[in-house]
Amino acid sequence: MNWRLSKLDKYALISNSDAHSFWPWRIGREANVFELKSLSYDGLFRAIKERDKNKFLYTIEVDPGYGKYHFDGHRECGVVLSPKEAEKLNNICPVCGRPLTIGVLHRVEELADRKEGFVPKNSIPFKSLIPLSEIVSAFIGGQPFSKKVWEIYTDLIKKFGNELKVLLEAGEEELASVCREDIAKGIVMVRENKIRIVPGFDGVYGYPLLGKLKEREMKTETKRDKQKSLKEF
Ligand SMILES: [Zn+2]
Repeated sequence: MNWRLSKLDKYALISNSDAHSFWPWRIGREANVFELKSLSYDGLFRAIKERDKNKFLYTIEVDPGYGKYHFDGHRECGVVLSPKEAEKLNNICPVCGRPLTIGVLHRVEELADRKEGFVPKNSIPFKSLIPLSEIVSAFIGGQPFSKKVWEIYTDLIKKFGNELKVLLEAGEEELASVCREDIAKGIVMVRENKIRIVPGFDGVYGYPLLGKLKEREMKTETKRDKQKSLKEF
């Protein structure tokens, strides 16, 4: 999102996770990846400052859509809108008539002086990932801290060494030798950026369309479509 604001071009952008809670999967979900001959403060500082692509390889990001205030909307009214849709309604909720809770993306649109998808020259590339325990829980159901999720998580870590190796490097077949095939496929899909995120709004977290979460979303969509067609009658 920052790339859309030309004022930020002069800054080297890094990506760090901040843990607002004690859940371990919130730590390290955002990171900076370096390739340095030796690890020193000066070397690290220079790689960032000079935005040297041979040394500062990429950043790891969690999709901003996960945030609790990404899209515009009203939780109580079940209204979720993109900034453009909200603007069309003068940022007023079509259900209760009160002003909508405006999300982060709306502010980005206000500030941006470039189109979506713009990549500035000299920018360090990024990869979007989802924490492993969240991927697993999307398939197993329940919370990322459940015993079942942690068993699968621990099996994967034991085999591949660490979470980033699982998320970024392990092959699908290798993964499937440790966990369920659908989870292995899900990990690779996240890596290849093939997952859609349902954006958060008005205090509701966003979530990835993966496993059970995807099934649930598809059911709601069919229900919505049916209701629509009934109304159209
Ligand atoms: Zn409302």
